[in-house]
Amino acid sequence: MKEIGEYALEKENKDLSDFVSILVENPASNETYKHVFCIKFVSSQDSFEFKGIEHQEYSKEKIVKYLYKRGSSNGPDITPTARVTEIKKTFSNKIIGWFSKPLKEAKPILDGEEVQFLELLGKCIKENEEKILFDLEPKVNAIDAKENSILTLVLEENDLTRYVGDFEVFRKILKNNGASRFYSKYDIISKGDDKVCSVCKTNKEVYGFVTPYEFYTVDKRGFVSGGFDQSKAWRNNPVCLECALKMTAGKEYIEKYMSFGFYGFNFLLIPKLLNNSKSEELFDIFEKFNEKKFVFNKEYQNFLQANENDILEILSEEADYINFNFQFYEKSNSAYRILLYIEDVLPSRLRELFKSKDIVDKRKIFTNYFSNDTEVKSIKFTLGNVRWFFPNTLDDPDLNKYFLEITNGIFTGTSIDYNFLLKYIMQRIRKDFRNESPTRYSMFLGFQLLDFLIQLHLLGNYRGGKSVNSKNLSVLLGDMAPKENSGYEERINVVFSEFEHFFNTDAKRAVFLEGALVQYLLNIQKFQRGSAPFRTKLRGLNLDERSVKRIFPEIINKLEEYDANYYKELEYLISKYMIQSGTDWKMSTDEISFYFVLGMNLSNLLKSPKSEKEIEND
Ligand SMILES: [Zn+2]
Repeated sequence: MKEIGEYALEKENKDLSDFVSILVENPASNETYKHVFCIKFVSSQDSFEFKGIEHQEYSKEKIVKYLYKRGSSNGPDITPTARVTEIKKTFSNKIIGWFSKPLKEAKPILDGEEVQFLELLGKCIKENEEKILFDLEPKVNAIDAKENSILTLVLEENDLTRYVGDFEVFRKILKNNGASRFYSKYDIISKGDDKVCSVCKTNKEVYGFVTPYEFYTVDKRGFVSGGFDQSKAWRNNPVCLECALKMTAGKEYIEKYMSFGFYGFNFLLIPKLLNNSKSEELFDIFEKFNEKKFVFNKEYQNFLQANENDILEILSEEADYINFNFQFYEKSNSAYRILLYIEDVLPSRLRELFKSKDIVDKRKIFTNYFSNDTEVKSIKFTLGNVRWFFPNTLDDPDLNKYFLEITNGIFTGTSIDYNFLLKYIMQRIRKDFRNESPTRYSMFLGFQLLDFLIQLHLLGNYRGGKSVNSKNLSVLLGDMAPKENSGYEERINVVFSEFEHFFNTDAKRAVFLEGALVQYLLNIQKFQRGSAPFRTKLRGLNLDERSVKRIFPEIINKLEEYDANYYKELEYLISKYMIQSGTDWKMSTDEISFYFVLGMNLSNLLKSPKSEKEIEND
């Protein structure tokens, strides 16, 4: 974060070794600020003398001399330099006003001489109030109405003009203003003199409340070792002013350029540079992306969300000189909660994710998810596949947590339990089924998700692997083999070999094919009677080994009843796999139901394209 801050500050032409340069603001907030009116004094013995108004042209080079820093909008600024609004008001509130409250507040950090200097100067201004205004007003009012001006003080000394920023006392006040939030909180002061800064490792004045993110605040029990004496907070995390300012600048930069939305969450994508050589190039990517100057070609792949361009593919093209930290957080009122922190994701890891995504996306069934005469719709993998099964819902608040855990697993390569995923995938599919909605979309998203995770070897407790060798059962089945060949076996084998990992047991094949057969029956029922009563036999898609085996003959009987059993070859294959699979499949209800619905939804893929007797799938 400090490095990002250094980059951000350098970009604004700040001198990193000079806190004043970091803290100071440009009084010319836009190009209309062309004039500077200096109220000029000379010192004589124990007092000051007003010497008139000097009108200068604004100069960028003098920003540190003006030493401007905005204060509260009605009160004075941090130093007696101000942007002119209405000259009378500005002079009275921001210049004369400065020598009352701000001066009083600064006294504890000033020595006697400094206090005296400021009090005398204030006294002189107050005494000359009318005279100064008399000189000032016509000059300010004479400038072009479209232009703006700045009001400040200068002290003339031996032909030398000294500006506010040339006085140590004002720099001290500016510094203290910038530092106070790092050492003072709830009326507790936490600082140490000449101690080692935990960031730059040099001995300096260090502060205890430098907390770039609220989660790290020392006011939470548990974060602080050695008791809870807040005034000693600097002992736990001592940071010097320079480092604190850099970290703050880094935080601001990150929030501006590296902050993204993600399904109702926010996250920061914080790069950690492993060497500095290419930092500028990297920051440039973030800035361009943020300013929407990045040109996305049509092939650009999204990973996080289908409908919004995300920066990950661009970053995946970088070499491994960086890694990324993802900080997912939630902000409500003043509370900032880190929900998930993913560390050290290398660009090469991102490339692996895109590679797996690419394999999955190119599968025929996903590229051709839907097609008619005019359009073809594909389904491409994004983390939206995960979100579909783990949505943000009041019914089950845990789903948000699971969603982030799975996201974490995918980025870090931590495996995700197969049965756990199946449970939630089937939960969604069953809901669709209960509502008599098509299960197709959910099925495809779930199937694609599992396929993606298999590519990454992230499916935990999944008994995948090479297909088992089919035993030659033609002898055993003998005459049952159908006379005519309508090509089912070839078409089925295409699917089985494309998804080799998924169809590695005979039981899975049997269940899958039975699902397809049921879909054919449901289509026929629907066509002939306008409804599909066989649906009730599917037990709301809670199918186990027994029920799958029991309904198989029932499906065939029904098809015979309708005089529409065109599927003898398919039935033969189901029998074959059923027999080979034996008993005690060791498949959960979720898994059996999953393969069954998969078969239902891929049934039209298995169907003979030429067969006219068959009724079209809906
Ligand atoms: Zn430091």
